Amino acid sequence: MSRHTGPKCRLCRREGAKLFLKGARCHTAKCPIEGRSKPPGMHGWRRGRPSSYAIRLREKQKCKRYYGVFEKQFRRYFDDAVRMRGNTGANLLLTLERRLDNVLTVCGFAVSRAQGRQFVTHGHMQVNGRIVRTPNYLVEEGDLVRPEPADNILDMVRSHREETGHPEMGWLEVNEADLTIRVLRMPTRQEVTVEVEEGLIVELCSR
Ligand code: SF4
Repeated sequence: MSRHTGPKCRLCRREGAKLFLKGARCHTAKCPIEGRSKPPGMHGWRRGRPSSYAIRLREKQKCKRYYGVFEKQFRRYFDDAVRMRGNTGANLLLTLERRLDNVLTVCGFAVSRAQGRQFVTHGHMQVNGRIVRTPNYLVEEGDLVRPEPADNILDMVRSHREETGHPEMGWLEVNEADLTIRVLRMPTRQEVTVEVEEGLIVELCSR
């Protein structure tokens, strides 16, 4: 299982958008995107208008980096989205949104997707009473996600919930008392947290 180990802010600077990869720091003035950050690399801003390929590529990269998936896995999500009924772009985003590491992040159990991923791979999260170690697990309607009942993990999750301002999502119900997440239904396109134009991604990946 691979993950990005290089500088995270560099990824945001490349996309020119906040991808919230670093937790608390992303909400402070220390975030380079808050200032006038230039794209990484010695050449900085490029002159002229980006090509239509470049626009579509950036949109795809932004989506991949936001959810922390690499090209091969992203292509697999895309192929699955093509096979599903309905709008391919929306299917792709809704599938990514259902990843377990994303669910932990949008509910404030983890401050970033990387941390959500770490919680899962280290065996600190259970789904329907069983430990799940794959961050790409896709939650289903009716699933119950809960942290391992160890004091240090529960304290950590509780402090992250406070730090992130007790976020609420319409399709997920958080029980503050026993720190569980119930999946009420599948997310809708409006509830997807990443800001991308999925049509551009579909155009690029369909070539
Ligand atoms: Fe860095 Fe977070 Fe800002 Fe991205 S959003 S540039 S990861 S501080």
